[in-house]
Amino acid sequence: MSEEPFDGDRSVLDLVGVGFGPSNLALAIAVAEHNAERRRTPGTPPVTAAFVERQRAFGWHRGMLLEDATMQVSFLKDLVTLRNPKSDFSFLCYLQSRDRLIDFINQKNFFPSRMEFHDYLQWAAELVDGDVTYGREVVAIRPVLHDGDVAWFDVVSADVTGAAEPLVHRARNLVLGTGLTPRLPDGVTADDRIWHTRDLLPSAERLKVEAPSSKRFVVVGAGQSAAEAVDYLHREFPQAEVNAVITRYGYSPADDSAFANRIFDPAAVDDFFAAPAQVKQMMLDYHGNTNYSVVDQDLIEDLSRRVYQEKVRGEERLRLLNVSKVTEAVRLGDKVHTVVESMITGERQVLEADAVVFATGYRQPDPAALLGDLAAECRRDEAGQVVVARDYRVDLGPRVRAGVYLQGGTEHTHGISSSLLSNTSVRSAEILASVARRTTSTQQPSLIS
Ligand SMILES: Cc1cc2nc3c(=O)[nH]c(=O)nc-3n(C[C@H](O)[C@H](O)[C@H](O)COP(=O)(O)OP(=O)(O)OC[C@H]3O[C@@H](n4cnc5c(N)ncnc54)[C@H](O)[C@@H]3O)c2cc1C
Repeated sequence: MSEEPFDGDRSVLDLVGVGFGPSNLALAIAVAEHNAERRRTPGTPPVTAAFVERQRAFGWHRGMLLEDATMQVSFLKDLVTLRNPKSDFSFLCYLQSRDRLIDFINQKNFFPSRMEFHDYLQWAAELVDGDVTYGREVVAIRPVLHDGDVAWFDVVSADVTGAAEPLVHRARNLVLGTGLTPRLPDGVTADDRIWHTRDLLPSAERLKVEAPSSKRFVVVGAGQSAAEAVDYLHREFPQAEVNAVITRYGYSPADDSAFANRIFDPAAVDDFFAAPAQVKQMMLDYHGNTNYSVVDQDLIEDLSRRVYQEKVRGEERLRLLNVSKVTEAVRLGDKVHTVVESMITGERQVLEADAVVFATGYRQPDPAALLGDLAAECRRDEAGQVVVARDYRVDLGPRVRAGVYLQGGTEHTHGISSSLLSNTSVRSAEILASVARRTTSTQQPSLIS
C-alpha cells in the first residue's frame, strides 16, 4: 500500500461522500438535521461533511425522465420520512412549497411521476445546507498514515471540464454513493444509434432531428425500462415499427402486493443481514420479481391494448418478439444490422433498425475499484464479494481505522433494497450514527488544493 505521510496542518472532515445522488443527498440532510440538533446541546461538536459529484448539477436518471413514467416507490419513502416524519425535507413539505399539496392529495395516488420526484430531489438538493462540489469526479483515494495505521483518506477529485486543478478532501470516513453502471451485452458498444436506456431521451431527441422519418426500432429487455422505452418510442415516432425483443413469453408484472412489499422494510435489512448465505439467496430468488425484469401492471395493460388495437386495424407497429434474443447488433452506415434469434426454433430474422435500445440493466461496480492500493485490504467472502458490516462499513482489517461505508452495492449483505430508494432515509441515518460514534475530532472542514 502506498500511503501519504501525515501532514498535521491539513484539517480533516468527518466524512466525504462520493457521488451526490439520492443516497448521499439523504445523508447530507441527515447530517444537517443531526448538527442542528447538536447545536441545541452546547459542547457537542457537529459532524463535518463534504460531498463530491461528477455531474455539473443535481440530476437523477435524467435520460429516463419520460413523460407519464411514475415512481416505483411510495412518496412516503422519500429522503427523510421513515427516519424523521417531522423533517422539513419531506415530499409533503416539497408539495407545500410548490403550492400543490391539496392537488396531490386529490390525485389519491401514492406514486408521483418520475419528473415530479426529480423536481423534489432537486428542491431538496438546493435546500440542504451542505458542502457539495459539483462537476468533479473522484479519481483517486489515497490512504494517509498516522501512528502506523491508515487514519484518514485523501479524496482526489478532477474537474470534469479539465479546466481546474484537482481538489483533495481529507476525511476520516468515506461514504461511496456512486450508483450503478449501465450494462451492455458483450461486444456491444453504445453510439448514436445503439443506446442504453440510460441515454434514451437525449439520444431519441437527437434522432428526431437527424432522422425524423425513422422507421424501425428494436428494444432489448423485459423489465420496466424496456417496456417504458417501447411505450415511448411507439408514441414519439408514430410512423415507426417498434420491435420488443424479450427472452420471456411476455412482460411479467411487478409484485407490489402488501406482504411482498415488506421485503423493502427497514426490518427486512436486519433479517436479511442475519440470515445464512443460502437463505439470503433464497430471499433474493423469491422476491426478485418485486424489482428485476418486471413491469408495472398498468403499463403492461396499456401496451397489450395497443398491440390488440393494431391487430384490429391491420397495422402492426408494436411487435413482441418473445422467447427471442438479439445475437448481433452491428452498425452499418446510419442503420443497425440486427439479428434476432428465436430461442424456440433457432430461426433468425434480420432487422435493419434506425436505432437499437438495450434495456439490459445495470451492474454494481466493485466498490474496491475506487480504493486504489487499499483495495487489497478489503476482506472478501467465499463468493469474492466485499465483507460489509451491518452499519454498511467495509471490512478493511485492523490497520485501517478510517471508515469506508457503502450506499448501494450491498445486496449480498443487506438485501434487495440496497440500490433502491425504499430504505435510503433509514440507511443514511444508520451510517451517520456509526460515523458520529467513531468521530472524536472537532476540526472544521476545509479543501486542500
Ligand atoms: C430509470 C430508473 C428509475 C428508477 N426508479 C426507481 C424507483 O422508482 N424506486 C426505487 O426505489 N428505485 C428506482 N431506481 C433505482 C435507483 O438506483 C435509485 O432510484 C437511486 O438512483 C439510487 O440512488 P444513488 O444515490 O445510490 O445512486 P445514483 O442515483 O446512481 O447516484 C450516484 C451518483 O454518483 C455520481 N458518481 C458516480 N461516480 C462518481 C465519482 N467517481 N465521482 C463523483 N461522482 C460520482 C453519479 O454521477 C450519480 O449522480 C430507478 C433506477 C432507474 C435507472
